[in-house]
Amino acid sequence: MNEKGLLLVISGPSGAGKGTICKLLREKKPELAYSVSVTTRAPRSGEVDGRDYFFKTLDQVKDMIFRGELLEHAEVYGNYYGTPKPYVMKLLDEGKDVLLEIDIQGALQIKKVFPSGVFVFVVPPSLEELSQRIHHRGTDSEEVIQRRLASATKELSFAHQYNYVVVNDQAEVAAQQVLTILEAERYRADRTCNAIDNILKLHRANRAAKVLIEE
Ligand code: 5GP
Repeated sequence: MNEKGLLLVISGPSGAGKGTICKLLREKKPELAYSVSVTTRAPRSGEVDGRDYFFKTLDQVKDMIFRGELLEHAEVYGNYYGTPKPYVMKLLDEGKDVLLEIDIQGALQIKKVFPSGVFVFVVPPSLEELSQRIHHRGTDSEEVIQRRLASATKELSFAHQYNYVVVNDQAEVAAQQVLTILEAERYRADRTCNAIDNILKLHRANRAAKVLIEE
């Protein structure tokens, strides 16, 4: 019905569980293409270049920005992150749905150039739960954790700029809700104009053929 793929943008405060939800989405829907971001952050233990991120130097990322190769970019907790543009555009043109897991600054930049994207804001059930999750993850220093928690509180106020809010109490349930959103988005009236055009074209062609036969 819709020749172009859907751009599914998942964001929300750090620790809300975006990463887990995106992992589940990719397992449940393997045909969903995932855009691997570039970052200047150092790899964490177990992270693989090209799979989790493309790990770059600051100069490399600045060059990419200068050459217009990033769809959006943002500085998050002292590091640069960005979404490679050619890869995402190619997949969308091929009719594939593309998943981006990015921060709020990036999501809002994309919303300006891609208002037809599907913007989902993932929130934790409570700020206390968020704090516990970030501590349990054990990947960041206490200083970084405190910065993340402080910005999470502010970030919640951006929810209304998204199309959907999903409360991540149980990741499985939240992931299923995102898939339901994606499915429903396909049938939005403003995405189905081609289908209506095709129905009308077919009707006109059939009517013209009938007139010819009757003559
Ligand atoms: P982390 O360093 O924990 O992997 O990610 C930190 C934050 O950067 C997360 O909120 C993540 O969603 C965000 N992020 C990851 N990739 C991108 C990207 O390409 N663009 C933007 N704007 N944010 C990103």
